[in-house]
Amino acid sequence: MLELARLRADTPGCLDKSFLDSAGSALPPTPVLDAMIGHLRREAEVGGYLAAAEREVELGAVRGSIARLIGAAPGEIALTDSASRAWTTAFDAIVTSEGIGPGDRVLVTNAEYASNAIAMLHHAQRAGFHVELVPNDASGQVDLAALEELLDERVRLISLVHMPSNSGLVNPVRAVVDAAHRFGALVLLDACQTVGQLEIDVASLGVDALTATGRKWLRAPRGTGFLYVRADLLTRLAPSAIDQAGASLSGASYTLQPDARRFEFWEYDVAARLGLGAAADYLLEIGMAEAERAIRANAEALRAGLARVPGLRLRDRGIRPAGIVTFTLARHDPAPVRDRLRAAGVIVTVSPSSSSPLNMSDGGQVDVVRASPHYFTSPADIERCVDAVHTVSRDC
Ligand SMILES: *Cc1c(COP(=O)(O)O)cnc(C)c1O
Repeated sequence: MLELARLRADTPGCLDKSFLDSAGSALPPTPVLDAMIGHLRREAEVGGYLAAAEREVELGAVRGSIARLIGAAPGEIALTDSASRAWTTAFDAIVTSEGIGPGDRVLVTNAEYASNAIAMLHHAQRAGFHVELVPNDASGQVDLAALEELLDERVRLISLVHMPSNSGLVNPVRAVVDAAHRFGALVLLDACQTVGQLEIDVASLGVDALTATGRKWLRAPRGTGFLYVRADLLTRLAPSAIDQAGASLSGASYTLQPDARRFEFWEYDVAARLGLGAAADYLLEIGMAEAERAIRANAEALRAGLARVPGLRLRDRGIRPAGIVTFTLARHDPAPVRDRLRAAGVIVTVSPSSSSPLNMSDGGQVDVVRASPHYFTSPADIERCVDAVHTVSRDC
């Protein structure tokens, strides 16, 4: 069982309000904040180089902590300043190094994140491959039968989103991977909304690469993210942008790092990286299984409460929605609903349909109110949210 009181005491920001935006940017716990602020102070005292040297052990351990969280090896992890940086770096390296070009096909799903879609279309224009959409099934998840139909040996890569930012649905990763690998296609998984929310084991998922952000469910600072690349794939991949972290120079020739550090740059925000490490360690101590259980239970309690509000429509799709709860309210636009909830001390966001621009199913998509409870969310937080939504629903 989680020690809710202790976890909440570690999260001062959750005590005076109902904070339900961990899918946007969660509240970092005190150890994360302390690691970062302590380091910034130290940088001001002795300079950034000496301050970083004093934290060499902690900094060297961050990749290992992230790796442990997803069942990877430390050498398969590159630390980045965002998930989008990780994703675009991986996508670019795959397209370039695997020679994906004219006549080749890249498959994408309805859940694709806007930034990924833009990067993909940009590369498609330059390299001449085709981007094709795999439709959803009736549940809203990627349609596995349609995927089978689309697959052939010209499909080189599938971009899959584990959980979109605007729905609790969880895509069936293993089934997509198995189908892809039968045709020799790679799978790049955007796990921004699931790392830190759901138990993830890259070996059992079988994905070739995975990207995630720090600031969401991991409760790490903004400006952090990471890339996982399977060990036997990463040695085949060279990023387009390399510096003295990604490679070493001897004379007039350079050698790429043998591991995922080839995707990193030398300069980085040291305080933020220490915060990322502290966040991963904090979660490892709680236990990912416990965290997932609590998040799912909180989301289910919230859905159950909201379902009783007149005029409210839950918008989450998928067979077993997880920690993201989305809804619309009859006669009320999402933005004013969000604002009124905020005024009542309930922090939610509006997830615009533009965040998944490829989603043409469900008769075109709508903007939704998004409430994303974490494991530190209390029953009183959920009640406060449901009560506030009830109050809004009574006004016309
Ligand atoms: C937030 C999010 C991203 C982008 O993460 P950044 O760290 O902001 O780059 C990508 N994909 C999904 C599904 C997200 O929710």
